[in-house]
Amino acid sequence: MPAPNFDVIVSLAKRRGFVFPSSEIYGGMAGFWDWGPLGVELKNNVKAAWWRHMVQLRDDVVGLDAAIIMNPRVWEASGHVAGFSDPMVDCRNCKLRFREDDLKGKPSESACPNCGTRGSLTDARQFNLMFATHVGPVAESASIAYLRPETAQAMFVQFENVATSMRRNLPFGIAQMGRSFRNEITPGNFIFRLREFEQMEMEFFVHPRDEDEWFAHWVDERHRWWTDVLGISDDRLRLRPHEADELSHYSKQTTDIEYQFPIGWSELEGVADRTDYDLRAHAAGSGRKLEVFDESSGEHVVPYVIEPDGCRTRRPGRSGGWLRRGARGEGEAGRAADAAGAGAGQGGGSPAPAQPARARRTGAAVDH
Ligand SMILES: [Zn+2]
Repeated sequence: MPAPNFDVIVSLAKRRGFVFPSSEIYGGMAGFWDWGPLGVELKNNVKAAWWRHMVQLRDDVVGLDAAIIMNPRVWEASGHVAGFSDPMVDCRNCKLRFREDDLKGKPSESACPNCGTRGSLTDARQFNLMFATHVGPVAESASIAYLRPETAQAMFVQFENVATSMRRNLPFGIAQMGRSFRNEITPGNFIFRLREFEQMEMEFFVHPRDEDEWFAHWVDERHRWWTDVLGISDDRLRLRPHEADELSHYSKQTTDIEYQFPIGWSELEGVADRTDYDLRAHAAGSGRKLEVFDESSGEHVVPYVIEPDGCRTRRPGRSGGWLRRGARGEGEAGRAADAAGAGAGQGGGSPAPAQPARARRTGAAVDH
């Protein structure tokens, strides 16, 4: 059966009570959608199936439900704060993003450092995808806090508490589902790029020597979940390992599980090998030793992390807007942060800490 037109699905989803534009009688709100009576049941079913399979049926994964607002130092250590504060310009032609500092002159007078096109660069804009708010009655800079842009960091920040209280040895995982927020420059495409979305993420901590084995395990396991547990037809799924130049800055290897949507192949989930990047960043930021005693080797180790990031999709094509490994830049500002289709998710991922900026592919931040 040929796939129906995407617009037909969107219209049907509203008519049948699955998804409505947020506050629609006031004209809606870009990037925000409400789950209707049938949508909330569907979404809850997917979340329950994920939680049962990832947490309740496993003895090596435990759950977490962290606060959305965390100490702002979390986002400093992770790189989100500094990473989001640079003035950036986009190339309308090749969709790459550059720091304004890296240009030879004003954006309007410069050629794109990548494709060389003149007149294709936007004006510089401060990109910070995090929604800022104030905690307490006084709106001053010291009280600034952020709505979390991803759930993953809470699992790294609470790593020590969970490992200690649950008496965990490697390998073990921490799973969490919950809302995240990104102030997308250009939200849109129905529920594929939202400003408020839900994630289902699990961070699996392993001994560094076992990373490849566990990476392969989780790619396999997650693929099996989509087919055997959710019942999605295998011929509409494919596994796509990332090329070296499209890996996120924290990732050593990533494989996407892609679904053939009516709008093309797009990511349902990604399994990323985040190495010890995040734990080391938070150890440096907090001054705490985020390591465990490994009984098999008799030594303290900083674990590596394999992250199955459920139910996230990307825009069709390969310009997902991830920070590329070969193109470390300044955060995921403008990253195509896409929410899931039928499910409830969005890609996790962290911005790079402040580093010499180069280009990154985005596609998400160009106004059309
Ligand atoms: Zn260009």
